[in-house]
Amino acid sequence: MKALQYRTIGAAPEVVEIETPEPGPGQVRLKVSAAGVCHSDEFLMSLPEDQYTYGLPLTLGHEGAGVIDMIGEGVVGVEIGDAVAVYGPWGCGNCYTCAQGKENYCPHAAELGITPPGLGSPGAMAEYMIVDNPRHLVPLGDLDPVTNVSLTDAGLTPYHAIKLALPKLVPGSVAVVIGTGGLGHVGIQILRAMTSATVVALDVNEDKLQLAEDVGAHHAFLSDEAAVDEVKKLTQGLGAHAVFDFVGIQPTMTLGQAMVRVQGDQVLVGVGSGSLPVGMLDRPYEASLRSPYWGSRSELFEILDLARSGAVHVETEVFTLDDAPSAYEKLHAGNLRGRAVIVP
Ligand code: NAD
Ligand code: ZN
Repeated sequence: MKALQYRTIGAAPEVVEIETPEPGPGQVRLKVSAAGVCHSDEFLMSLPEDQYTYGLPLTLGHEGAGVIDMIGEGVVGVEIGDAVAVYGPWGCGNCYTCAQGKENYCPHAAELGITPPGLGSPGAMAEYMIVDNPRHLVPLGDLDPVTNVSLTDAGLTPYHAIKLALPKLVPGSVAVVIGTGGLGHVGIQILRAMTSATVVALDVNEDKLQLAEDVGAHHAFLSDEAAVDEVKKLTQGLGAHAVFDFVGIQPTMTLGQAMVRVQGDQVLVGVGSGSLPVGMLDRPYEASLRSPYWGSRSELFEILDLARSGAVHVETEVFTLDDAPSAYEKLHAGNLRGRAVIVP
């Protein structure tokens, strides 16, 4: 089968022919319908050899959807022909954390060598993929796999980040979204659907600011010092109730710190290696700083239902598997609108 693999440190991913995998006991094989392109893929492909821990060659794709086409020995509860989305942050499935559906925080995954598809295990950018356990599949039902596959990460991650901040996002509140790309443009819609907050979007790219407004941001500003004043103007000088940072580099974290209010939430989602001092006099009193990772299994059901209600959609640009390397080039150049999706 054809697959998109990262094969050489520092080189672009390549379309290659590899053996079609067979599901082992307890596993399920999907004929892939769609796979999303995430900035995290670019992050891992930017790592130098001594920091790269994902294995080579790596079939990319941690956002996956497909149709079950083969079932391993002992698998029950799913049928050949079911259309499903893949829950990516696989855990051990047996511990207290996993029992809560929070496999994204399974404390045993690392020691057991369990890695998400596309981030260690073979991912969804292939004609077929293996899912380790049917509990990692969520029925898509009537949702189109191509326009909804990215909800498995670009939807689930902001959903989880925003859900934790909901108590702060009361009527009259202001929420800031920094970085309105794949995750951010879905985050804006989640905020509009689940809160009555005024939503302020910040980005460095005018097209992304336009996208932010198109999907429901009340205000969109360039991401610079002047944005702090704009947020202060909207909040009687007090600052935002929550800031969601989908970039995570030093300038955006510093901006977030400057615009969050006393008792506000600063939520760091972007993997940009910025950092902030957290001392008594460094931040507004009781302003929290959190760095959530992906989301829980039940939250994937919830974000898919939110999409089914019509409240959230993913702007998608579709590429074939042969053309997948160009999707990464476009992501790198910063001129994708929403999410790139690979359709094998
Ligand atoms: P993306 O490339 O689609 O979007 C990033 C956006 O940030 C773009 O619109 C870009 O113009 C904008 N941007 C760049 N510099 C900026 C700045 N200084 N100020 C404001 N905006 C700026 O990326 P994505 O796929 O949406 O991923 C976003 C980040 O989230 C990445 O760092 C990714 O690795 C990370 N991520 C984290 C998790 C998690 O679980 N925490 C999950 C998925 C992705
Ligand atoms: Zn991702």
